[in-house]
Amino acid sequence: MHLPSLIERKRDGGRLSGDEIRAIVAGFTNGTIPDYQMSALAMAIVFRGMDGDETVALTDAMLHSGGVLQWPADAPMRADKHSTGGIGDKTSLVIAPLLACDGLWVPMISGRGLGITGGTLDKLESIPGFRTQLSEEEIHRIVGRVGCVMVGQTPDLCPADRKLYALRDVTGTVPSIPLITASILSKKLAEGLDRLVLDVKFGSGAFMKSREEADVLARSMVTVGRALGVRAGVRLSEMNEPTGESAGNALEVAECVRCLQGGGPEDLEAVVLDLCATISVSHRDQLRAWLHDGTAWNRFQAMVEAQGGDVSALGRMSEIHHAPCIGHLRATRSGILRRMDAGIIGRVILELGGGRTQAADSIDFAVGCDEIRKVGSEVRFGDELMRVHARTDEALEAALRRLVEAVSIEP
Ligand code: URA
Repeated sequence: MHLPSLIERKRDGGRLSGDEIRAIVAGFTNGTIPDYQMSALAMAIVFRGMDGDETVALTDAMLHSGGVLQWPADAPMRADKHSTGGIGDKTSLVIAPLLACDGLWVPMISGRGLGITGGTLDKLESIPGFRTQLSEEEIHRIVGRVGCVMVGQTPDLCPADRKLYALRDVTGTVPSIPLITASILSKKLAEGLDRLVLDVKFGSGAFMKSREEADVLARSMVTVGRALGVRAGVRLSEMNEPTGESAGNALEVAECVRCLQGGGPEDLEAVVLDLCATISVSHRDQLRAWLHDGTAWNRFQAMVEAQGGDVSALGRMSEIHHAPCIGHLRATRSGILRRMDAGIIGRVILELGGGRTQAADSIDFAVGCDEIRKVGSEVRFGDELMRVHARTDEALEAALRRLVEAVSIEP
């Protein structure tokens, strides 16, 4: 294989064969293809794209660059959800145990926060003792016993994506539908899934800004997922305001606990039920019943315990992670709340220390916003629009000043 010719062919709008793609992924993973050639190829793909067959071949090659979780032939169906990420997007913590109530096995491999969007692993790690790095043997044992597990990637799964994503991150080659499709699906399919639901977000707090862009990504992922043997469903959801009423790691866990006990915000429960109903065996009403009768809550506690977490902490998340400086953003006029900008709230939380600007940064679990009012509500001058949790008075004041821009109220 002469890689410069393949790079030139893609640069000039040609296509790569399945064999060529497999050889490229293998060579990049084992180090024989250097980063500079792979980044040139990635940039050519950003500009020239890939057709459906190329994207399937790339996803499949990345999926098989490492191990794939193997399950017994008589095991229940495996199912999972992937979200493209948003602000206050905490649905995974409710969905994994809820799907497990339905008799499905959910070996959920999640990621950390990316940019302004929060990460499931970071949220879970705010639960004292909760372990997210488990061996494959532990993953199998916990799924077999509890029905669900929520973990980070193991070293053996999708090494090609780990390397390629790190390269794309620093070479301006993230925004490409085929590269995103292959990256997301290879990681998810390495779980050995039968069913997958994709929650593709668009709006100010999402990676995709418009419904049209989200739709193209959704179609690409569903087509490739199906070609690789997974029943894939999709839900496009707006991310112009945060999901639920909180954003920030421990605050979101506290809200998930309320949702699992049947008392969560309506929009959070609705998105959870919509996503689960796409791939569940049981009807939406049954799923809703499990959220309200304690079944899903018991399952979540069993998972937390199996992963070393302190179950007794779940009802005390905001005491355990208590930010010392708490203030309110208040309405500056009376009227209808028309905008609660998720993108601005996400950036504020990042600045408060609730996310990372560099991979090695540590996270402040306590900071964030809660009691966030929903768009469409009627507010009066001086009403509380959200509560802000900060580490210092200066950080709180800066956040409140910035958050004013997140809000529009129409008389
Ligand atoms: N998330 C991923 O895992 N990969 C991408 O390429 C983009 C978002």
